Amino acid sequence: MTDRQKMAQGPSSPVFTREIVRRIIDGFFGDTEAMLRELEEAGFDRDAVVKHVRALGLTKQLLRQHNINPQQLSVRTCIGCEREFLSQGSHNRFCDACRPRS
Ligand SMILES: [Zn+2]
Repeated sequence: MTDRQKMAQGPSSPVFTREIVRRIIDGFFGDTEAMLRELEEAGFDRDAVVKHVRALGLTKQLLRQHNINPQQLSVRTCIGCEREFLSQGSHNRFCDACRPRS
């Protein structure tokens, strides 16, 4: 199967790759509407994108609470449970649920 055929097969459930999530994060802290339109054109369902944003814990409150630089946000795989989560820096290797408490 060629890549083109794979693309044609997948518009109903495109994959949230790291690159797409990066775009979502940038869009969320910038021009959210433009980001949503762009992803819709790429075959993403708007509701699915919004759900994915929520699943990552990406909220405006998060930005305000922690004074986060969006450039430092990235999606990582938790070394505890191996789920993807929103990391606030290279030191951040655990999701909220797995983060060791002191
Ligand atoms: Zn975890």
